[in-house]
Amino acid sequence: AKAMGKARHIVFNASMHEDVQSSLQLETDLRRAIERQEFILNYQPIVALDTGMITGFEALVRWISPELGFVSPGKFIPLAEDTGLIIPLGEWVLREACRQLNEWQSNNVTDIPLTMSVNLSVKQFSQPNLIETIDQILAETQLPTQCLKLEITESAIMENSDSAAKILDQLRDRQIHLSIDDFGTGYSSLSYLHRFPVNTLKVDRSFVCRLDAADDNVAIVQAIVTLAQTMGMDVVAEGIETTEQQHQLENLGCEYGQGYLFCKPVNAETAGEMLANRNHK
Ligand code: C2E
Ligand code: CA
Ligand code: CA
Ligand code: CA
Repeated sequence: AKAMGKARHIVFNASMHEDVQSSLQLETDLRRAIERQEFILNYQPIVALDTGMITGFEALVRWISPELGFVSPGKFIPLAEDTGLIIPLGEWVLREACRQLNEWQSNNVTDIPLTMSVNLSVKQFSQPNLIETIDQILAETQLPTQCLKLEITESAIMENSDSAAKILDQLRDRQIHLSIDDFGTGYSSLSYLHRFPVNTLKVDRSFVCRLDAADDNVAIVQAIVTLAQTMGMDVVAEGIETTEQQHQLENLGCEYGQGYLFCKPVNAETAGEMLANRNHK
């Protein structure tokens, strides 16, 4: 037993060493990618479930590396958070997303008011100059403040609960909307919903994907919708892939959704075409 324990120990160290090596390499690559601007934004429509009309987009960052090819955000966002590189990257994402929506709206590609949802990481949320940066970007890009929605997770709020109230109040003063991302997967405490000005709950994909199966997910989504209605919040369901899920969510009182059923995240050109085509209908 002792020998086995020792062997396991060695294996563990070796693979840890590999992990550290490859994440160091990826960090170097990521740093260079930011300098060389190897990122683009994709946009996924958020639709009204009853009509299918686009109400806005979620901006999702993509790294297209000449050396590594497509690197998924699931891989580089956590690393960007650990290394602090999320600060310059996140600032670029925010600026580019705001600029893009303003371009669509001011060139009359669309005549309906749309929102742009941008993901904010925990690290960004704890930056002391976050509000300053947002103000500067909104002034620069000319995007009306009420068009911007910020998506943060429950943990971003809870890990910064001292500064969170002040930041969130400042966002509300500016009419910037706040969405709780991956709602239901984080903290079990809901008390923060009373303390903070939250506009939207985003139901995590894990609850949506098994809605067809007879299990507790129906009850969970129902509870989230009821909670939101009671508190005057909107609900957006993530990761809708089937019409059954769409109809079930509608029946549960969920008004908005996004997912492959409606549209995958697409590049700016395709998103702009979708908006333009709809205007001519
Ligand atoms: P998220 O914010 O929960 O984004 C939703 C993810 O679900 C996206 O993955 C989207 O492409 C995917 N998705 C949308 N509809 C469907 C569907 O019907 N089925 C399935 N299976 N997936 C669907 P993506 O783009 O790979 O992003 C993964 C995560 O990376 C995001 O999760 C978010 O946490 C993070 N992320 C992406 N872009 C940014 C960014 O600009 N800043 C920050 N801080 N995080 C980002
Ligand atoms: Ca999100
Ligand atoms: Ca999400
Ligand atoms: Ca998620």
